[in-house]
Amino acid sequence: MEKILNYINGELVEPKNGKYLDNFNPSTGKPYSLIPDSGKEDIDLAVEAAKEAFITWSKTPKQNRSDILMKLADTIEKHFDELVKAESKDNGKPETLAAHVDIPRAPANIRFFAGAILHNSSQMHEMDGAAINYTLRQPVGVAACISPWNLPLYLLTWKIAPAIAAGNTVVAKPSEVTPMTAYLFSKICIEAGLPKGVLNIVHGLGSRTGDPLTTHPDTPIVSFTGGTVTGKHIASVTSPMFKKLSLELGGKNPNIVFSDADFDKAVSFASRAAFTNQGQICLCGSRLFIQEEIYERFRDALVAKASKLIVGDPSEASTNLGAVVSKEHMEKILNKIDLAKVLGGKIILGGDRKILDGNLKDGYYIQPTIIEGLPFDCEVNQEEIFGPVVSIIPFKTEEEVIEMANSTKYGLSASIFTENLSRGHRVAAAIESGVVWINTWLLRDLRIPFGGMKESGLGREGGFKSLEFFTESKNVCVKI
Ligand code: NAD
Repeated sequence: MEKILNYINGELVEPKNGKYLDNFNPSTGKPYSLIPDSGKEDIDLAVEAAKEAFITWSKTPKQNRSDILMKLADTIEKHFDELVKAESKDNGKPETLAAHVDIPRAPANIRFFAGAILHNSSQMHEMDGAAINYTLRQPVGVAACISPWNLPLYLLTWKIAPAIAAGNTVVAKPSEVTPMTAYLFSKICIEAGLPKGVLNIVHGLGSRTGDPLTTHPDTPIVSFTGGTVTGKHIASVTSPMFKKLSLELGGKNPNIVFSDADFDKAVSFASRAAFTNQGQICLCGSRLFIQEEIYERFRDALVAKASKLIVGDPSEASTNLGAVVSKEHMEKILNKIDLAKVLGGKIILGGDRKILDGNLKDGYYIQPTIIEGLPFDCEVNQEEIFGPVVSIIPFKTEEEVIEMANSTKYGLSASIFTENLSRGHRVAAAIESGVVWINTWLLRDLRIPFGGMKESGLGREGGFKSLEFFTESKNVCVKI
């Protein structure tokens, strides 16, 4: 079986303890590679290498940093097909999705920040000819970047690119559930000539590898994307150390369809928002609120659309949904569906595991599932499920739907479908989430600040906000 290796100080190395964990292919349910079960000693080596590299990298002219990042993006594209296959095999998602979303977004992230660092500006405040104040932004040191399994390379590069572009060095810990694209990326860094120690990638479990990274005294920045429970833990251990902390956490996102919406468009988006990537996108619309006048017609149209989705072999071009990421995750989703039944919900589509043929028979496939009849405030409608499951809820008025939409502890994203411009803006302003889409979903402009309210996160990433996060600001006052 192929052994994934850590990337430390420019080299691919075994974990110091020599221990490995099985890495499973969710589409077959079989282990297919080995992942380092790294510990504190590997993190210490990686942080040491990153600290050493920071001395030169932080002083490397921006143009040179930008050029190296551009080369890295080009090299990712050279290995595009290999990355698509690896992402699909590691995660269970359809190759077509990896080819259209995940993998193209990785070089796009890197190019975006390679350009942004050249066009960044700083603030200046003039004091009636007596003095000028300007804000100097400087790299901080070694950034700890921790990423989840749902969009593995996309989210890893979303952190690494601004951190490195701004002149920091990085120790990254990708999810142990989907390590393969990060491993291929470390080989790509070597091929592209990224100076040693600028990026280090250490694989392993959250408790054994992640904890020593976030609590290391020499990682003053921690950028984390993952679940809210893990985010709380990281906040609790890093806050007393006064680290710069960014948390991108879970969501339970409302998708609100008013009766005046463009019906077909809203049905199409509702299906995409619920089931893309097997519902494993933090921005998925898992609570679908439909205005009473169109409730039944909309429900039936959604069921008709979703029942045509093909759950199948991720390597087939016709497949819409592949496998969910792991056995544990599949069981968690199926338990939530059972809970929905216990709470009085009616499963109007799907609701079960799907067993495929041949070597896919042990894969972790779940049918697209639509539930109706649950109260908006029950557990199933309040807690993140993170699977191909959507709960539909009727509403009468704007006020009522705003109250229901805002009832969860999360506040990541929301979608509103209406042809009434004023209502769209009004509801957008009233919804408690960091991102609101009107008449669309998952349309991302890399320049906009991205992040969640309430328990969906802390801080904003994206565009120049990321460069701000990965730098320390200093105000200089000059007396004239
Ligand atoms: P997770 O919290 O279990 O793990 C995320 C990462 O944290 C992994 O690399 C894991 O190894 C690491 N980790 C776990 N315990 C740790 C610890 N004690 N110290 C340091 N690191 C630790 O999340 P997941 O299951 O991989 O991802 C799914 C979650 O991520 C969902 O809740 C989803 O909504 C969220 N997510 C949020 C965004 C966003 O931008 N807001 C994007 C994608 C995913």
